[in-house]
Amino acid sequence: MSLLPTDQQLALRERVRHFAQSEVAPRISEVTETERFPRDLYQRCGELGFWRLNVPPENGGEGGGLTEACIVMEELARVSPALSLSVEIGIVSLPMLLTTGAARYAEAVMSGDLVIAAGSTDPKGQNNSAEWDIFAREEGDDYLLNGTRLFVTNAQECDLFSVSGLDESRRMRKFYVPVREVEGVTIKPAHGKYGMAGSGSGTIKLTNCRIPKGLSATFAIGTSAYYYYVYCLCAAEALGCMQGAFDLTIERVKSRRSNFTPLAELQAIAHKVSRLALRIEMARSLVYDAATMYDAALADGSTEALEAWSLKAEAAKVCVSEIANDVTTACVVLHGGLGYHDRRIHHFAGDALCYRIMDMTNEIHLDNVARTLGLLQGAGA
Ligand SMILES: Cc1cc2nc3c(=O)[nH]c(=O)nc-3n(C[C@H](O)[C@H](O)[C@H](O)COP(=O)(O)OP(=O)(O)OC[C@H]3O[C@@H](n4cnc5c(N)ncnc54)[C@H](O)[C@@H]3O)c2cc1C
Repeated sequence: MSLLPTDQQLALRERVRHFAQSEVAPRISEVTETERFPRDLYQRCGELGFWRLNVPPENGGEGGGLTEACIVMEELARVSPALSLSVEIGIVSLPMLLTTGAARYAEAVMSGDLVIAAGSTDPKGQNNSAEWDIFAREEGDDYLLNGTRLFVTNAQECDLFSVSGLDESRRMRKFYVPVREVEGVTIKPAHGKYGMAGSGSGTIKLTNCRIPKGLSATFAIGTSAYYYYVYCLCAAEALGCMQGAFDLTIERVKSRRSNFTPLAELQAIAHKVSRLALRIEMARSLVYDAATMYDAALADGSTEALEAWSLKAEAAKVCVSEIANDVTTACVVLHGGLGYHDRRIHHFAGDALCYRIMDMTNEIHLDNVARTLGLLQGAGA
């Protein structure tokens, strides 16, 4: 297995970087002010094939791997962590969607014509589904859905809502709700978030919302390879986010002077910046080590390798998100008062915090790791 990126991966990185810098960067203030992503940019992501990358060719995709998806996440987050997060929802939703009657929406999701949102955070909490109320009741050939999901990324633009909830047998199911075709959907935008201003998030409430049973499937929450795949994407976003803050910081320390000397010529500053660069590189190794190993294990069909891989994905999610918090905060401080006042730099620190919380909090991930070490086996753990 080569550790060097392939020519296709290098070309993909260039393509995403060019799009992010030339088409996304000029519109960041519009995104921040409206707290949502312009629909046309979303459609451009479809034209550029971001949602097709990981989908098998027989379903209209390009059959790429986790490495390719991480490249897209990293390069988008480097300019806009919020857009990267919005795009992630489509990437992670497609595999399960394709196994249900909702597969008829897949082409529209991949082309960017249809925005998908995913809800799994119940008002009682995301990680304690045993405490959730029944969400879906059977009525003939339909399910009748009742319940609320919080903090839903893409809620404001959402056309298709992929929502997790309990059926009457208390089995976890995924339901695909075409929100513009059914009654009983209320979307309340979230305002004033700590970061991720453009992710168009909100609360989605379903009241006696009726969907055909074919738009649903059972699934198990937790520790399948799919979930570790998602955690790795989260780490790639955290990587891009800190790289974006670092790019601005390099420019700033070269141009800002203290006593007629550029900050970059002061050893205390140069060492601080160099340490940040090394921590970013360490984070990059964690992300792409996990991604290439996943792709190789999948290509070999090795379930043992995939099991061993889970610890790498946990390392990527937990460690890279924590490094991103440290690095982005340090970058704000290196900008001095400007760092605190200029959204162009400090949004990266606010955005970075979310990687410790989203896709299950780091505390829950540490519980998973502890269990693989034979810890936390006692009652109540
Ligand atoms: C930017 C962003 C985007 C998001 N997008 C979505 C989305 O698209 N869809 C969606 O459904 N949700 C989304 N979320 C919500 C997110 O997934 C949840 O908020 C997150 O998983 C935490 O769940 P919670 O809010 O219920 O935390 P709580 O359960 O309220 O946790 C509170 C604190 O207690 C800790 N804690 C909880 N249980 C334990 C335990 N057993 N042991 C130790 N510590 C524990 C947690 O780690 C946390 O620090 C998003 C969140 C953010 C920040």
